[in-house]
Amino acid sequence: MKQSKKSPRQTKQIIAVILALCGLIITPDKGYHLTGILLFLAGISLLPIVTDQLKKLNLTQKIRKLIAVVAPALLIFLALIVPSSADETQQPKQTAETAKVETTKIKEPKKDKKVKSTPKATPKVTATPKPTETPTPEPTATPTPTPEPTPAATTMKVHFLDVGQADSIFIDTPSADMLIDAGNNGDGNNIVSYLQGQGVTKLDYVIGTHPHEDHIGGMDDVINSFDIGDVILPDKTHTSQTYMDVLHAIENKGLEITVGHSGDNYQLGNVDFTLLSPRSGVDYGSNLNEWSVGAKVVNGNNSFVFTGDSEGKSEGDIVSSGIDLHADVMKAGHHGSKTSNSEALLNAIAPKFAVISCGKDNQYGHPDLETLQRFQNHGIQIFRTDEQGTIIATSDGTNITWSTDPSTSMASGTPKQAESPAPSAQQQPESAPAEPQEQPQEEPQNNEQMVWISETGSKYHSINNCGRMNPNKATQVTQSKAESMGLGRCSKCW
Ligand SMILES: [Zn+2]
Ligand SMILES: [Zn+2]
Repeated sequence: MKQSKKSPRQTKQIIAVILALCGLIITPDKGYHLTGILLFLAGISLLPIVTDQLKKLNLTQKIRKLIAVVAPALLIFLALIVPSSADETQQPKQTAETAKVETTKIKEPKKDKKVKSTPKATPKVTATPKPTETPTPEPTATPTPTPEPTPAATTMKVHFLDVGQADSIFIDTPSADMLIDAGNNGDGNNIVSYLQGQGVTKLDYVIGTHPHEDHIGGMDDVINSFDIGDVILPDKTHTSQTYMDVLHAIENKGLEITVGHSGDNYQLGNVDFTLLSPRSGVDYGSNLNEWSVGAKVVNGNNSFVFTGDSEGKSEGDIVSSGIDLHADVMKAGHHGSKTSNSEALLNAIAPKFAVISCGKDNQYGHPDLETLQRFQNHGIQIFRTDEQGTIIATSDGTNITWSTDPSTSMASGTPKQAESPAPSAQQQPESAPAEPQEQPQEEPQNNEQMVWISETGSKYHSINNCGRMNPNKATQVTQSKAESMGLGRCSKCW
């Protein structure tokens, strides 16, 4: 009996010691501290030395047995339960810790990358504020976070620079830039500094719509100042010094001229543009305006049409080209002249907005009242550089926002009597200061013969008071322009 009594006591003691030892072993293990402690306590509570103490307490046999059994059982049970719940809380901590380690690890190589591969780092930095020299469009550079339903739209800004009686339009996209025309000779430096102010280092495309000074005047300065991609010009040369300067700049830079024709298609970063004119194989004669390289620039669902100084014949060819001309914005043809911006063209483009690039009090009387009325009849909102300075349109592929409100003046220009060769010069002194001596800005004097046309006559004249002409209503244009308007040479004054 004694032995049988001793053996359970001994096994109890062995179990107690094993449990306590297990507890001790486990406790230091990370994440099993509590389990270890509980097992250790369970072991202790089973030790006969401890259970014997219960006997000393004045308790009933039942309660003593209950405590002796329940206490270690509960401790063991808890020891088994705790680790699983503790693990759960421990696990995320561990992953969080490792995650932290990992992110710092990722961040560091990024820093390294910036140092090692600057070209990769720069486009990301420049993507938002300013485009630089990334000919390959980076998919990540698209600033719009949500994928649009529109085809490859980006943020495109179209700057209609205030260059007086001239044209210069800067098209700015995150990954590529283009300049259409570069104002008069005297505008070169201003255009260059404006572009530099916009962070431009490279112009992927430079379009000289036609060889008139008010379009290519500052182009030599632009070509000399920036990294240049393609120079697009019409297949029509000129003998003016201004044109020669441009050719020399192109040559000196080792560039080649890309001859522009209707239908040619190009990519300006994510933006697509198609040339609208001049039509290949057509001889537009001596009127340089008719040779203008026109373009339609498309950004998602927004589009802009530029027709340079195209007039009747060229505009007609644009309309019948079969190219989809529909656009939100139209750069008014030929500074808002009535010889451009025909009904047919306005119907085909159906623009919401027109931008007139012309100089205050210009001698040509641009924009013509007739053009302004035509725009108004079509419900087109008008912007004009002579009143509003440089105008910026921002397209996100869906909407176009403007840097200023549309013009409401409807003020047309009045053709000036430029102080022409002797006979007519009865200038009033007050009209003199308004007209600086720079004169015929649009049509270079060098080779283009200037002539006078009356309001209604069918002839052009060498003087502004030939026969019954009203000198106050006579306009001075180039001979080629007069001829392109269907006017014949007056036999009386020539
Ligand atoms: Zn012009
Ligand atoms: Zn012109």
